[in-house]
Amino acid sequence: MQEKSLRIPKKDWIEGRRRLLEWFDVHQRPLPWRENPTPYATWLCEIIMQQTRIEQGLRYWYDFLTLWPDVDALAASSLDDVLKAWQGLGYYSRARNLHRAAQLIAHERDGQFPTSAKEWKNIPGVGPYTAAAIASICQGECVAAIDGNVLRVISRLLGVQEPIDRPAGRNQIETFSEEWLSEIKPGTHNEAVMELGATVCTPRAPQCPACPLSDICRSDQANTGLTPLIPTKAGKVKVQDVHLTFHVVTSGQNVWMRQRPENGVWGGLWEFPSHVEQDGKKHTTAPLPPKGMEEGDVSSHGAWGHSFEHILSHRRLTCRFWIWKTDMNFKPFEGRWLSWKDAKKLAIPRALDRFWLDLEKSQSTNMSS
Ligand code: SF4
Repeated sequence: MQEKSLRIPKKDWIEGRRRLLEWFDVHQRPLPWRENPTPYATWLCEIIMQQTRIEQGLRYWYDFLTLWPDVDALAASSLDDVLKAWQGLGYYSRARNLHRAAQLIAHERDGQFPTSAKEWKNIPGVGPYTAAAIASICQGECVAAIDGNVLRVISRLLGVQEPIDRPAGRNQIETFSEEWLSEIKPGTHNEAVMELGATVCTPRAPQCPACPLSDICRSDQANTGLTPLIPTKAGKVKVQDVHLTFHVVTSGQNVWMRQRPENGVWGGLWEFPSHVEQDGKKHTTAPLPPKGMEEGDVSSHGAWGHSFEHILSHRRLTCRFWIWKTDMNFKPFEGRWLSWKDAKKLAIPRALDRFWLDLEKSQSTNMSS
């Protein structure tokens, strides 16, 4: 795995993992299925708790264990009895799958539970998350269990701005989760991340000051203010209109380029210094000089061509390029002067391609005229 994709230095996430496990040891809720996790009790718990609040599911879990203490007993029951016991939980396909799965395990596997996440996935009603949860918690398999809580915690921890319901966002979370997972205590680690999501890194009111990961988190509310924006979902996110000005500041044959911060849109790519109109405002007639320059430092040469739209996953950018000229004595407070030739070799956002293409066209026109 490439270190770069992690966004957090390895030594930091190792320390974060240590703190997370310590935190879990002290702060976990005393839930009965954690006391002596067996495959049967954990499997029942995972199926019952899908789309169910713990307070509600707890009673059903106890009832099932009382009515059918093991998988053979559950397999020997009638489907009607199982559905009856399930009444009030909703999503009855879960109960039907539970009964079918019990019969499969009892009759076709001689009462033996699967011993790996891969095998668990062949059991009716068991998806990748449930399979990983059971295999890691009960059987010590080193496999990351990724549910909604984990998606939220890890996307915030890494500052993943891509939608988590699309491969680009989801892959980052899965890759990091596998790498981050404790080889010694994979089940405890999985439970700890889920517990953090359920009790601290909650959807609307994350308690970052109480979080064991706040030092390394890329969305920690106090430092970044990003928490309410992450995770994003492609299906639900309203497209936001953003008006962006790129300041193309030139001096002789050189142009001022700066590298964008690692976190956020176009992280680590190079661009002309840019600014976003605040509060959703549209472009004003002419921009002020770029940050760090005074009016007297540069002369404005107006907009380059027309504004154009560039669509990101949940933002519609209206981009314009504003040309400025100055002399080389001006030292940029960030970025550096580069020849046009060297600037073109840098990794740039696709939104800037348009400018480059226009520029090349105009240069070839000028040369041929
Ligand atoms: S610091 Fe805040 S946003 Fe980051 S993982 Fe912890 S609770 Fe979530």
